[in-house]
Amino acid sequence: MLNIKNHEIIVVGGGHAGTEAALATARMGQKTLLLTNNIDTIGNMSCNPAMGGIGKSHLIKEIDALGGFIAIASDKSGIQFRKLNSSKGPAVQATRAQIDRIIYKIHIKKKLEKQKNLVIFQEEVEDLIIKNNQIFGVKTKLGFNFFSKSVILTVGTFLDGKIHIGLKQFKGGRASDFSASTLSLKLKELSFKTGRLKTGTPPRLDSKTIDFSKLETQFGDKPIPYFSFLHENIKHLKQLPCFITYTNKKTHQIIKKNLVNSPLYTGKIHGIGPRYCPSIEDKIINFSNRLKHQIFLEPEGLNTNEIYPNGISTSLPFDIQIKLIHSIKGLENAHIIRPGYAIEYDFFDPKDLKPTLESKYISGLFLAGQINGTTGYEEAAAQGLLAGINATQKNLEKNAWILRRDEAYIGVLIDDLCTLGTKEPYRMFTSRAEYRLLLREDNADIRLTEKGYKIGLINHERWKFFCKKIEFIEKEKQNLRNLWFHPECKFIKNLKKKINISIQKKINGEELLKRPNINFSLLKTIEDFPFKIENTQIENQIENQIKYKGYIIQQKKEIQKKMNIEKIVLPNDINYQNISSLSKEVITKLNTYKPYSLGQASRISGITPAAISVLLIWLKKNNLVKFSNCK
Ligand code: FAD
Repeated sequence: MLNIKNHEIIVVGGGHAGTEAALATARMGQKTLLLTNNIDTIGNMSCNPAMGGIGKSHLIKEIDALGGFIAIASDKSGIQFRKLNSSKGPAVQATRAQIDRIIYKIHIKKKLEKQKNLVIFQEEVEDLIIKNNQIFGVKTKLGFNFFSKSVILTVGTFLDGKIHIGLKQFKGGRASDFSASTLSLKLKELSFKTGRLKTGTPPRLDSKTIDFSKLETQFGDKPIPYFSFLHENIKHLKQLPCFITYTNKKTHQIIKKNLVNSPLYTGKIHGIGPRYCPSIEDKIINFSNRLKHQIFLEPEGLNTNEIYPNGISTSLPFDIQIKLIHSIKGLENAHIIRPGYAIEYDFFDPKDLKPTLESKYISGLFLAGQINGTTGYEEAAAQGLLAGINATQKNLEKNAWILRRDEAYIGVLIDDLCTLGTKEPYRMFTSRAEYRLLLREDNADIRLTEKGYKIGLINHERWKFFCKKIEFIEKEKQNLRNLWFHPECKFIKNLKKKINISIQKKINGEELLKRPNINFSLLKTIEDFPFKIENTQIENQIENQIKYKGYIIQQKKEIQKKMNIEKIVLPNDINYQNISSLSKEVITKLNTYKPYSLGQASRISGITPAAISVLLIWLKKNNLVKFSNCK
């Protein structure tokens, strides 16, 4: 047996949660060990080679604003970028990119290898070293004991992973990857609450066997968007188009006829799948009146023929997968390179975690990523970052670092998971956030970079870059305020020729931009508009700050009102049974969930505003009112 003791934090898993966690702890100065069973799969995208989308790109930009790497790696490996919802308001606009999965992995691994304070070791973790409810490290398959003050577990879909293709099933954490069965058994012995979830992936196709001439083409946007706020020196790769095709009556007949061989419909799979990313079998059954379903044919990279047919994840038997694919326009002769499959895996109830992602029962053990019941690279990366920050804070005996729901989508994600838990794979959407207008993609750095700098996540160079940007925005906003237009001036006359607008008296640039039908894109096309910003990031920022100022002030007032209860701590040792005016239901829920604050308690279903008032009065009466000192 080999005992290795020279690490402060161990991160288990080299997926999206693990890599952001390890980078964060190392950036914050902790001697970090990343243990993963296969270093060649570090940063692997298990399924769709795409990053971002609605709600998800908000997470990416927040991670970027806190010094994480997912945005830069995506910008450096993206092969088609699009702005989603670009005709809608800024709160719901999002960025999505098709990614070259090989290039992405290379960037992630290179970043880890270069990171100071971080070492990587290839080994399978089989057990945790725990004494008196305190973590001391991990045990590996080769019999090594690695010791550390904190451990972050980010093992994704690998815990007792079971792959299904038709009625065939075998152990695996992903196609061609092992299933972490021993670790799963050991974790279950710790009496964590666990469940089974499932997800799936479509068969991959060989592009040279697809007839693209029959299909609609979809190009990326121009100018090509970026995820990272630090994209100045990043040059996009060659951009590729995607193609669109559809399922049809014949496809649906094939699927329906073969449901008897589908593990989903024969009771072989017990885990619950992602609601927003259903298998094609589920789509055909649940939307039986739909005559066709859209399929995006997405290239997997610049140096491969592999095509990802987005929209037809399936675990039907392989011979049926062939028939299904061949029934689709353009795919009549398509060759399948890899079969589609479904995977079932263990997850742990995130309600057993503190809002720092530390276990409520084992001190120093943090869980992040798909292990907590989420789905998606972005959700995993966000949790990894937060767990990394808090493991570091704990090691350094500093305050917990929590983002509130009004500060970040990361805050919404963690609060939803730890307060409400999840029964199905949890995916982020903008609709999950109540303060959407504050939590825009474009202002993630303004919301978070200073916080990141204060705890050592952001280096000085980045901080200077950010401060310069803020200064520039303020200066340009002032310039706009100082820019006055007379109703009869040449510019206003030109503007009136373009749009129907009434301007009766002198107006400055800021007031003009507040008008609903005015924006910079329009103003720039008007002759004699005397204001020019070369940087579109800054331009968007100024426009959104000015246009939505009224709503933003209103949302901030609302938040301020709620803040009083949000920050009042509920001590962990309260026995709610002793608070006489609480109903039985409320007592049971509070004793089960043990919320950390009145704010968190107020979001548990069944905890009424009246119960919150009773709790507040009880705390006051017992001299127990304390405000959280997180951050
Ligand atoms: P992972 O990315 O799974 O990383 C886990 C890491 O832990 C790996 O590096 C693994 O090697 C390592 N590991 C595991 N066990 C051990 C151990 N015992 N010791 C050492 N190392 C270990 N998400 C979507 O958003 N959309 C989709 O369509 C989608 N489809 C999916 C389809 C399939 C088939 C799969 C498998 C996943 C799919 N996902 C999808 C989910 C997405 O892949 C995950 O949400 C994301 O990868 C989770 O990141 P993670 O870091 O938590 O785990």
